[in-house]
Amino acid sequence: MPLETILNRLHKFKSFVYARVVWSIAGRELEVHIRPRKNSRPVCSACRQPGPVYDHQQSDRRFEFVPVWGVAVFFVYRMRRVDCPTCSRVVVEHVPWGDGKHQTTTTYRWFLANWAKRLSWQEVAVVFHTSWQTVFRSVQFAVRWGIVHDTWDNVVSLGIDEIAWRKGHKYLTLVYQIDEGRKRLLFLAQERTKEALHRFFDLMRPEQIDDLKFIVSDMWQNYLEVVRERAGEAVHILDRFHVMKKLNEAVDQVRRDEARRLNTDGYEPVLNKTRWCLLKRPEHLTDKQTVTLQELLTYNLRTVRAWLLREDFQRFWEYRSAGWAGRFLDEWVTRTMRSRLPPLKKVAQSLRTHRPLLLNWFRAKGSLSAGVVEGFNGKAKLTMKRAYGYRTPEALEVALYHTLAKLPEPTFTHRFW
Ligand SMILES: [Zn+2]
Repeated sequence: MPLETILNRLHKFKSFVYARVVWSIAGRELEVHIRPRKNSRPVCSACRQPGPVYDHQQSDRRFEFVPVWGVAVFFVYRMRRVDCPTCSRVVVEHVPWGDGKHQTTTTYRWFLANWAKRLSWQEVAVVFHTSWQTVFRSVQFAVRWGIVHDTWDNVVSLGIDEIAWRKGHKYLTLVYQIDEGRKRLLFLAQERTKEALHRFFDLMRPEQIDDLKFIVSDMWQNYLEVVRERAGEAVHILDRFHVMKKLNEAVDQVRRDEARRLNTDGYEPVLNKTRWCLLKRPEHLTDKQTVTLQELLTYNLRTVRAWLLREDFQRFWEYRSAGWAGRFLDEWVTRTMRSRLPPLKKVAQSLRTHRPLLLNWFRAKGSLSAGVVEGFNGKAKLTMKRAYGYRTPEALEVALYHTLAKLPEPTFTHRFW
């Protein structure tokens, strides 16, 4: 069965036919020659209206198609020019398998973009004998198509997150839909400024903002303010993941301060690798270390105390009623404010400030699955880690949308992947 017969079955055009398939001159590629159907009129690439043929271009154009059996396949076609009555000028025709500017067919771009969901861009490039750049362009094309054809209707719950990248000097703002049955990235912006989040709400229609019931975020002041301003009707919640993250950072700060202090006091070897858990194993202390266990305890107790306060706060999330959770919170905050552990006091203070937003967690309980934002945070970080080839913020953005946004795709009569 000739290849053109197979193509006619899988990838048919109304106004064009596959004329013949031949080896390229070098014998390494297959060339599928295409010609217009008899009496078909070319379509203007500017206005998409048919018009009379003006002339043919001097040479054939080649468009890369999906390879077969490890052999590269090119569509070869001599473009016509249309004497377009609507545009009142001579314009190159539009062809259904690609657009004039690209050397890859639309189908091949969807093909590469879909593989890029399963493999890294570099791997896709290697497997299909193409360049990283071509894979990137294909993914970018798919993402753009998806964003244009996406709708944000019936979004009820949002999760707002920030992620540091490039070793913490730059931040991304990510907005997720976190509804049961529909969880995906909706929007991302460079920076974590108010403007960044305003841009998201600018893209939402007023009735879509009215649909919002729950918004989950961390304590970043810019987000708190913009949410209050733009979606004040929704219940705004500080979520477990971000609160515990803040507490973890505080515990670690206490530990590092303490380690530094011990270092200065000449106890460096003790805390070098041991951290506070060494306390349980005093036999590991050598004679050379001029420190008594008692001394070590007085130092390390700070880290232990910080850790215990953090552990204790886990209980907050177990409450069923906001009333009891509120009591626990107040008691915990009072206790922590007396702890003489500045990093924890700082978190306690901001938890007190945002008490209503914290207690909103209990108003929304049952409607939100707790781990969604955390899960996305992990996936986004993984995408960034795999992204050694994403040298530009633009490429990183495209990669995150491609992996996390569940963007729509056109319907294909046949999927080649
Ligand atoms: Zn036209």
